[in-house]
Amino acid sequence: MDMIQQFRDVSEHPEAYARKWKQKNNGRVVGYLCSYAPEELILAAGALGYRIFGSGHTISRADGHLQSYSCSLVRGALEDVLSGRLDFVDGMVFPHTCDSIQRLSDIWRMNASTGFHIDAVLPVCLNTDSARDYMTDVLRRLKTDLEQHLKTDIHEENLRAAVETIDEIRAGMEKLYILRRDCPEQINGSDLHAIVRSSMVMDRREFLEALNRLLDDMETSASMPRRSAAKRLLLSGGACTFPDIYDIIESAGGVVVWDDLCTGFRQWSGRTHIGNDLLASIADRYLRRPVCPAKHAGLTCRGDELVRMAKENRIAGVIFLFLKFCDPHAFDYPYLKQRLDAEGISSLRIELEDQITAEGPLRTRCEAFIETLQKDM
Ligand code: SF4
Ligand code: SF4
Repeated sequence: MDMIQQFRDVSEHPEAYARKWKQKNNGRVVGYLCSYAPEELILAAGALGYRIFGSGHTISRADGHLQSYSCSLVRGALEDVLSGRLDFVDGMVFPHTCDSIQRLSDIWRMNASTGFHIDAVLPVCLNTDSARDYMTDVLRRLKTDLEQHLKTDIHEENLRAAVETIDEIRAGMEKLYILRRDCPEQINGSDLHAIVRSSMVMDRREFLEALNRLLDDMETSASMPRRSAAKRLLLSGGACTFPDIYDIIESAGGVVVWDDLCTGFRQWSGRTHIGNDLLASIADRYLRRPVCPAKHAGLTCRGDELVRMAKENRIAGVIFLFLKFCDPHAFDYPYLKQRLDAEGISSLRIELEDQITAEGPLRTRCEAFIETLQKDM
């Protein structure tokens, strides 16, 4: 049996999966749009965390509420909810992130009918003395809010079990990335994308079991890591809502062996070091994980992290993949490119727009960039 097919199915039809899950388990679904939404608390409350990507349908209703120069993730998500495609969602958690998502939260609260609405106002500056206490308090408040809305008690042992499950997923995803980095032929890029997308939609325990089966299979059937002719690339940016990019890169002679995407490894990186105060331990992990451009943890932390990832994974080049009109990523780009230039790492910037990404010019740009890269890193 093709072990990846179930991930492809979920990735292509996430809404169908969530509806079925809800019916089968008589469960509740909590939607979110950003990797700073605390997965552990949603799982501990017995709900299904559902990452909303925007389904790529034509945008019309959302234009009545949002400027057309908002990113397609935000516009697409609003279109989906206004069109009734998210009617299975019982409540939303909006972590405080970029301006677009914060304003989307206001519009959503007033116009969408997806049940309860929680704004989790996380700290913006993550490396201050007070950030940990503040973040812990936000999580405490979120826990109480979820308990009230979902009519449940999140007991200490449930929260601990949820943290352990989410950490096992993080460990499994890291293993998957490493196995694939060392032998990219095992799984093509679009299948990796499907697995990552599924990780944010599927029942997390079901996902973990399926992931572990896949990892076992990969480990037993793995050929020795070998140097493939493809040039090794890293994708960096926000949400990747255009899985065809992987096929375009592969047919142009490249292979994506690592990423720094908010719908990629950034979602699952790091671990929770469980101490006496569980919520403080969870907060610690969110403060220590690779930072998004909507947060701050020092002037050079994103550049340092990108260079570290590029070197550790023997990357030949970096492709910055931004959604059009995504200001946070666009603001960071000049200095990130400068850092890569200083290290002799080539990069290409691509802007995508869900509705109108033209494949031909994109293919030509990828081919031209990949051709210029050194093969052996
Ligand atoms: S880039 Fe970061 S802050 Fe922006 S939506 Fe993605 S996870 Fe959230
Ligand atoms: S793509 Fe950029 S602007 Fe859009 S939600 Fe993510 S961080 Fe915000």
